[in-house]
Amino acid sequence: MIVSRFAPSPTGYLHLGNARTAIFSYLFARHHGGKFILRIEDTDKERSSKEFEEMLLKDLEWLGIEWDELYRQSERFDIYREYVQKLLESGWAYPCICTPEELEEERKRAEEKGIPYRYSGKCRHLTLEEAKRKGLPYTIRFRVPEGEVITFEDLVKGPISISADDFGDFVIVRSDGTPVYNFVVVVDDALMGVSHVIRGEDHIPNTPKQILIYRALGFEIPKFAHLPVILGPDRSKLSKRHGAVSVKNYREEGFLPEAMFNYLCLLGWSPPEEGREIYSKEELIKIFDLKDINSSPAVFDVQKLRWMNGVYIREVLSIDKLANYLAPFLREAGYEFEEAYLKKVLEKARDAFETFSEAVEKLKPFFVDEVVYSEEAKAVLENQTAVQVLNYVLLKLEEGELNAQRIKEIAKLAQRELGIKPKDFWHTLRASLTGELEGVGVDVICDVVPKERIIKRIRRVLTVF
Ligand code: GLU
Repeated sequence: MIVSRFAPSPTGYLHLGNARTAIFSYLFARHHGGKFILRIEDTDKERSSKEFEEMLLKDLEWLGIEWDELYRQSERFDIYREYVQKLLESGWAYPCICTPEELEEERKRAEEKGIPYRYSGKCRHLTLEEAKRKGLPYTIRFRVPEGEVITFEDLVKGPISISADDFGDFVIVRSDGTPVYNFVVVVDDALMGVSHVIRGEDHIPNTPKQILIYRALGFEIPKFAHLPVILGPDRSKLSKRHGAVSVKNYREEGFLPEAMFNYLCLLGWSPPEEGREIYSKEELIKIFDLKDINSSPAVFDVQKLRWMNGVYIREVLSIDKLANYLAPFLREAGYEFEEAYLKKVLEKARDAFETFSEAVEKLKPFFVDEVVYSEEAKAVLENQTAVQVLNYVLLKLEEGELNAQRIKEIAKLAQRELGIKPKDFWHTLRASLTGELEGVGVDVICDVVPKERIIKRIRRVLTVF
């Protein structure tokens, strides 16, 4: 069975790069009808927190990544202990009583000589009993076969070979008794039946260490797929310097999970059909293949993401779904409305914004009566023509319905009867109804906002200016 996993450490908010790893790993499992595991790697008690874990789960759920099983490493220490014991018994691991100062000394010497540091192997002959008898703090190290070159076939990067001499005997249990990542990841992936390890390429140097542990424990070695990093526009690794990099930022700014999922998927993976970019999750599950992952880095482009979000808003989502997503943003901004009214607004104005925080601004004229007038709008409204236009509109609105068609007619009549230029008519009306000189079409506003509210806004201008 195909089993893949996502193994985040709850030490911060879900980063876009990790979200993409999660997406690829998830798509891979679903494509093959396999299992997708979520494993919280929280062995580092100091850096991990429950709050980050909750946020991780929330962000993954929001993105639409469902897991079949959930594990926490902090609940598995007994299992790890058992496997450390096995390695000690089989001689693949040994205790090391070297002090941090001694090790630092060794490291410095290597640095002075300009050679890569690796542990001297001083404690290689020490037994656990001896270490315990000495009563000194000890770590546990893995005994790395000298001179061995470890080779594996990476499903993205191709064949990779790394010499064991590059790293030497490494620590698998710290002196405080906590096991380290390279060890627990192997025990977990093996016991959880993970067939494909899909993760960031920053883990390539860890892979040979892990392969040695798989072998020592007699576990089957999984396949590895290391994903290229995501870069910022300046082609350095995407980080906070480039602006918002956590999924939480984008969720709160009003991006759609569907668009995020779709966009992140295209970062480093090319769909077989050239030129097409909009795909639903179901479609992606169908066509996703690791062989279409590019081995070179992808560049994150927030403008492209905005564009894609706009496409989802305008063309992909149903009005119902859109209204559901948007309503909390508008309510948060203090707008009051009925659901049916919001849908009516969206029918006419879904093309006015690319994110929901932008919608809060752009759709204001549909929801608030106390508009705030910009300096430019004030200048228009203070003009003598404005009084003429507004009184004329009020007169015409005394009877009949108001809609887009009607307001255009009124504009024409104003031109014919009073000689008012269309530009002045629309400018005045726009400034009165929105407080701005640009934005959503005035005819659209007149189509949706109830006539009494339009009249109220116009009257307000006549008393204020
Ligand atoms: N906890 C590791 C990380 O967040 C997981 C690496 C892996 O997938 O093996 O980088």
